Amino acid sequence: HADIAMYSAKKLGRNNFQFYTPAMNDEAQERVRIESALRKALERDEFVLHYQPQVDLASGKIVGMEALIRWQHPELGMVPPMRFISVAEDIGLIVPIGAWVMRTACLQNRAWQDAGMGHLRVAVNLSARQFGSPDLLDNISAVLDESGLDANCLEIELTESLFMSDVTLAVELLHNMKAIGVNLSIDDFGTGYSSLSYLSRFPIDVLKIDRSFVTNITRDASDAALVASIINLAHNLKLSVIAEGVETEEQLDYLRRHGCDEMQGYYVSRPLPALEFELLLREHNQLADDKILLTAGAN
Ligand code: C2E
Ligand code: MG
Ligand code: MG
Ligand code: MG
Repeated sequence: HADIAMYSAKKLGRNNFQFYTPAMNDEAQERVRIESALRKALERDEFVLHYQPQVDLASGKIVGMEALIRWQHPELGMVPPMRFISVAEDIGLIVPIGAWVMRTACLQNRAWQDAGMGHLRVAVNLSARQFGSPDLLDNISAVLDESGLDANCLEIELTESLFMSDVTLAVELLHNMKAIGVNLSIDDFGTGYSSLSYLSRFPIDVLKIDRSFVTNITRDASDAALVASIINLAHNLKLSVIAEGVETEEQLDYLRRHGCDEMQGYYVSRPLPALEFELLLREHNQLADDKILLTAGAN
């Protein structure tokens, strides 16, 4: 019956539209809607970056931020990245979207630096397709040139899964990225399946402890042990370590006691639109300077 339905849709001259059969579930329908809306989103300027502060535990100051994409669609509303990033990967849109993210994040960071907000670092997430794209290195260089941002003020977040298909190629790419001068971090560290040996072979700067471990620090002894071990592992390898998803004072205390370098999470702030981030940044770092901020090394 699907064939007949498709045929009548064609007869109606609507063959350039996606046709839904009753058998297609809601998820598949939503996927089709997201795909076609996504194809127009860049030119319609529907993406925006939100910024989540990254706090240095020794000084209590905001030293950087992670740029997180948001998609505001007129009908679909705010579509979270989890619902469209993988779609964008599948239909080949992640490369231009990723380039937009990188450019916007660097221009914004440079604008904040020019406004006297400090030598901030901005982190952007890289997807698998972008990692394999032949334009990646040129894009990074071009964006740094255009924005005038120091390479060491840009951090690229990678996930372990990116390395798995071709380790030799990955090592080469990472070295080429390091040659440009950007920082490299491993996002969601601890959730991937790759071997630890890559840590010593790859020119990585930062480990980001996955939120799933941080969430249970104060409730689950083995997660607490894992987090402490990751911090030690990072430091033994001369890497810096940041915990993501920190929501409570107790979690923060644990991380500080175990020598974690930085933190990111709702405890300090959700990801914010640029203007709100800027206000938070000014206020927070002023308080940190005045040493009234509780997050500044109380121990
Ligand atoms: P991620 O890179 O691990 O980003 C952290 C996610 O955790 C963000 O979700 C952030 O809002 C959320 N988060 C931060 N602190 C807390 C906390 O204290 N509690 C809880 N419950 N959540 C917290 P978001 O923004 O929805 O992004 C989800 C994922 O989508 C990201 O995970 C990243 O993998 C991907 N993503 C976001 N922006 C981009 C982008 O520009 N490019 C690519 N390729 N992927 C992106
Ligand atoms: Mg990330
Ligand atoms: Mg993460
Ligand atoms: Mg995560």
